[in-house]
Amino acid sequence: MLDLDEKDGVKACSKSGMRLRMGLKNRTVNFKEVIKMAFNPIVDESKCVGCEECVDVCPVEVFEMEDEKSVPVNAEDCLGCESCVEVCEEDAIIVEED
Ligand code: SF4
Ligand code: SF4
Repeated sequence: MLDLDEKDGVKACSKSGMRLRMGLKNRTVNFKEVIKMAFNPIVDESKCVGCEECVDVCPVEVFEMEDEKSVPVNAEDCLGCESCVEVCEEDAIIVEED
């Protein structure tokens, strides 16, 4: 949970699903929207053996299996943690920073 003092102009509420309220500007933004454009997970289909480890490890459910291959169907939600890169023994995943 991120809980910063309001005098800093930023207040976070974990119950609202990672939403940040910018106190000074009285503007609400979705935390995922802030970072979703920064990372782009890519799966090399030719290397993927369909183990599903990346599907299981991703905290924001970026991957789904299609025809026994992992596909980043929710790439816009990627947080850039690279857990998928670490878990993939085939080195089939890269995460680009936009
Ligand atoms: S961890 Fe690698 S090999 Fe396994 S499903 Fe994901 S991309 Fe494919
Ligand atoms: S970098 Fe992290 S958030 Fe992004 S797809 Fe991989 S496991 Fe999911």
